[in-house]
Parts: sequence; structure tokens; C-alpha cells
Amino acid sequence: MLRACPTELFDAYIFDMDGTIYLGDDLLPGAKRLIEGLRTLGKPVRFLSNNPTKDPELYVHKLEKLGIPTPIDEIANTVVTTVRWLKANHPEAVVFPISEEPLKKALRETDIRMSENPEEIDIVIASYDRTFEYRKLQIAFDAIWYYKRAFLITTNPDHYCPFPGGRGEPDAAAIVGAIVGCTGTELVANMGKPEAIMLSAAIDGLDVDPHRCIMVGDRLMTDIGMAIKTDMYSCLVLTGDSTLEEAEALDASEQPTFVLDRIDHLIPDDIRAQWGWSDEDE
Ligand SMILES: [Mg+2]
Repeated sequence: MLRACPTELFDAYIFDMDGTIYLGDDLLPGAKRLIEGLRTLGKPVRFLSNNPTKDPELYVHKLEKLGIPTPIDEIANTVVTTVRWLKANHPEAVVFPISEEPLKKALRETDIRMSENPEEIDIVIASYDRTFEYRKLQIAFDAIWYYKRAFLITTNPDHYCPFPGGRGEPDAAAIVGAIVGCTGTELVANMGKPEAIMLSAAIDGLDVDPHRCIMVGDRLMTDIGMAIKTDMYSCLVLTGDSTLEEAEALDASEQPTFVLDRIDHLIPDDIRAQWGWSDEDE
């Protein structure tokens, strides 16, 4: 049953990007015509990424380059959700982002203050940071363990970021692991999938019932995990990280609603036939 294609359309379509729409710099088969087809049918399309090393603007440029022009307000990532969460819950907090430039830039555009002084840091934000170093770990350690004032959040729970060809890079979970390892603290909040905060950012401004929407992605833990947490339909595409075997090994309650080899099979068979789509076309 796991490999069944949808036989109906959903009220909105939320897509992960890497491993789902493209892999590295290459569009995945059927992705472009799927997005165009959904837009022709009047279905809202939104894009979500757990990756905090890019600005939403960068995704606009990337999608445009791949032939899928998309307005910035249809794209959300963990830079957006982290800033949003801080503004809503801790607007007065002094934060220490262990992150790359996009998150720092977004924080500078708000009233939220950043500091590297452990005596005044309230929140340490562990992120996917390829400039991570011992100095940053020491600041986090002092703020959390020595001065006992800061708590730890993360932009996203991913262990690694996959690359085409099977390699990858350590992701935010590695930084969380380093901080938890030396302080014994517990992670207080995660701003990425599978948390519902990502769904809220995606469907913000859309008048849709989340239970009638579908989340489409290549990673069981994050993409499908968010759909299950928020009681949405879900579709695992086998073009990125997770495999059919991994999906089949899960309890039925944790399995995706659909598993597809090609993302354009999200469009029901009868409509694809009407449109004359065959798998060889793209
Ligand atoms: Mg992905």
C-alpha cells in the first residue's frame, strides 16, 4: 500500500526542496511540470527547508534558475522560523547564534540583541555552522554551565546534510551534541521540521485546513515527521535521503501516506493522462 499514488488533489502542497525538487544543482524528474501543473489547477504551493545556511532570497534565486520562479513569501526556512519564534516568545532575550551569516543577518534586522559575552547571553542557538570552533563552544559552555543563565535551542534537528552522490556535511545536531556533551543541558526547542512551527510558517496567510494539505519530502524524520505530528497527508519521494525499506520498517502510524519514485505522480493518473504526461517526457 505504501507505494500508492494519490487519487485526489489536496488543498495545498508543501514541498521540501533538497532531495525533493532538486538534488544539488539539478532539478529532479517531473518537478518543474508538477509545480506548473499545480499552479494551473489553482493549488497553493509552498516550499520549506530546514537549512539555516541560506536566506529565503537564495532559494528564490535557486528556484528561478531551475525554471520554477517563486515569490519569496512562498518560501520559508529555519532562519524565518527561528527569528519568528524569538520575536513571539523571547523578544527581550540576548542571543548567541552559533550560525552562519543568514541567521545573524536576519537577527540584525530585528530588535533582538546578539552577544558573545556569556554573562549576558539568555539563549544559545545551535545551528548548521561550518565556521564552528572551540571558541564558540566555550562561550556556549560558559553561558549555560558556568553562569547558569542561558538555555539551548536549535534551528533544525538534522544530523547531516546530504550531498549528491551520498556524501554530506555534519548539520546542526552535531553542534547541539557538542554543547549537550559538555554542559549536560537539554535542548529546549527546535525551529525546524518536524515541529509544527514550520507548518505555520508555510501556510501563513493561506485560508486552508492543514488536514487537507500534503507535505512532500525526502526525509522521514523531518518532512514526514512534521506531517504526522500535524495530522496532514504526507508523501515520501525516493529521490533523496530516506529509502522505501526505511519507510516500511516504521510502525504504520509513522509511515507516509504515499511513497513515490517520481514527484509528478502526485497528480492523479486521470489528470496526468488528460495532460498527456508520460514518465519519459522529463
Ligand atoms: Mg530534503
